[in-house]
Amino acid sequence: MSTFQELGLNDDLLQAITDLGFIKPSEVQEKAIPILLDSETDLVALAQTGTGKTAAFGFPMLEKIDVNSRTTQGLILSPTRELCLQITNEMKQYGKYCKGLNVVAIYGGSSITDQAREVKRGAQIIVATPGRMKDMISRRMVDISKIQYSVLDEADEMLNMGFKEDITDILSHTPEDKNTWLFSATMPREVATIAKKFMSTPQEITVGNKNESTSNVSHEYYLVNSRDRYQALKRLSDANPDIFSVVFCRTKRDTQKVAEQLIEDGYSAGALHGDLSQNQRDLVMKSFRNKQIQTLVATDVAARGIDVDDITHVINYQLPDEIETYTHRSGRTGRAGKTGVSMVIVSKSEVRKIKSIERIIKRQFEKKDIPDGMQICEVQLMSLANKIHNTEVNHEIDKYLTSINELFEDSTKDELIKKFFSVEFTRFYNYYQKSKNLNVSDDGGRDRDGGRDFGGKSNSTRYFINVGSKDGFDWMKLKDFLKEVLELGRDDVFKVEVKDSFSFFNTENELKEKVLAFFTDYKHEGRFVNVEVSENRGGGGRRNDRNRGKRRDDRKGGGRRDDRNSGFGNRSERRRSDGDSRPRRSDSNSGNSNASRPRRSRR
Ligand code: AMP
Repeated sequence: MSTFQELGLNDDLLQAITDLGFIKPSEVQEKAIPILLDSETDLVALAQTGTGKTAAFGFPMLEKIDVNSRTTQGLILSPTRELCLQITNEMKQYGKYCKGLNVVAIYGGSSITDQAREVKRGAQIIVATPGRMKDMISRRMVDISKIQYSVLDEADEMLNMGFKEDITDILSHTPEDKNTWLFSATMPREVATIAKKFMSTPQEITVGNKNESTSNVSHEYYLVNSRDRYQALKRLSDANPDIFSVVFCRTKRDTQKVAEQLIEDGYSAGALHGDLSQNQRDLVMKSFRNKQIQTLVATDVAARGIDVDDITHVINYQLPDEIETYTHRSGRTGRAGKTGVSMVIVSKSEVRKIKSIERIIKRQFEKKDIPDGMQICEVQLMSLANKIHNTEVNHEIDKYLTSINELFEDSTKDELIKKFFSVEFTRFYNYYQKSKNLNVSDDGGRDRDGGRDFGGKSNSTRYFINVGSKDGFDWMKLKDFLKEVLELGRDDVFKVEVKDSFSFFNTENELKEKVLAFFTDYKHEGRFVNVEVSENRGGGGRRNDRNRGKRRDDRKGGGRRDDRNSGFGNRSERRRSDGDSRPRRSDSNSGNSNASRPRRSRR
């Protein structure tokens, strides 16, 4: 392992490095800096974000440019405004002892004339987003005809974002003999094509394997029903009290919705997506960096510029459409030598994607269970206990101690501790005591009711229904039939078990009334369908079910049918008389107040 001195950097840079507290070069720096310092060459570097790549191209560029000249000599293209600003900031810090250095950022959403003025003052290095750069070239606000070094940072992202034409156009305004340094986390075909087109015999360096995730990040997935995604997200957050996370959603709409719901539920969250104005995005990012926001909910595009070093968790609320994008998402954590966790919330239909991601990142996922309510209460309690243990006493309290002591005169230490902790614990306990098991098992069955829930109560109801395979049903047909007649959602009917002449199925408890009410008078193919609550809620004890089934079966065509009025043929009429019987999900994203967790005093 070399030192920065051994890499051959000059004193101005070494001084800045000391100020920044960098002790030794990172792998990409160790590999790239000597090559770029010692030769005039093109370079392709495969390196994840967070590996120190800005300095890997920044130090050599700063060393090589002539600060006494006002000509623009270096151009760094980056995919987003955030990243552009970040690189500019880093370059300014690295070059703070390079007298006369002027690094200018140009990006959309800010005054173009102000930026042009900055450039005119003499910018040796321009850091730009492709769109604004192209605009300024066409308006002759910049001159890049004499640049000697160009950097394509996060090249895969720039191409993903559709900047290929802009990049081609921009580079056509630069000298043929300049050096191009391309940095990319992944090497899809498009990046290889660009490298071939714009570079001549580039040297190549790879940090880790292509597309590979850094070893600092562990990968976990959680299998839940789609409808439980939001609940799962909240639990993962609650189970990690000191979480500082980015939650990735697929669309701007979902991003906004999840963030709003989190805020409503008492979390310190913010949304980052392309429908926000630059000003709003800046404010959100500022709050996130300052840790006023603990959870940033973001789209992939908006999150590209996020280079915040302390992110503890990346949560994939939904998997990205392009599997390669996962590498970028998970790369937001485990930066600058720290460890991080990348969590994926998946539904059954998506779980196969995990295998594809494993192949790409060359790492194994660990399947984990969404913690249950009691586990969360315990984590929260212990976290509080630790915080209290480590809290420095504020002696301003001393003057109130006499009155407080009087109040607790009769309490033992044990009682006091219990009371004290109950203040926080009870809030979580009350919220989580009726929480259900959100996990779905791998083997095709559902775990949602598999265990007993917190407090030993089950959240789902198991029903007996007097139709079975003799009536032409298999589990899929019965599930579809129930969903249709009851107007239920995709996952509302589960654990469907079809026997010869009867079957069982489950719904959430909250649907019980609706299900039973509907089947009081319903005929299927001329026969009354009878539905009753089965004693066996989880469906585990088959004998009970079977016995019960027999009994019910024996009754088939018996008294009850006769008891009923003939004809409840018109279902819609019946439903109308029932009023709105749509299931109300206490856990949906729709802002039901039941879904709010205890509000905690946020830092
Ligand atoms: P980057 O990949 O360039 O975005 O860098 C990620 C973070 O690592 C930034 O905050 C850098 O300031 C920091 N960094 C870069 N090089 C080093 C180094 N050699 N030692 C410690 N931190 C570094």
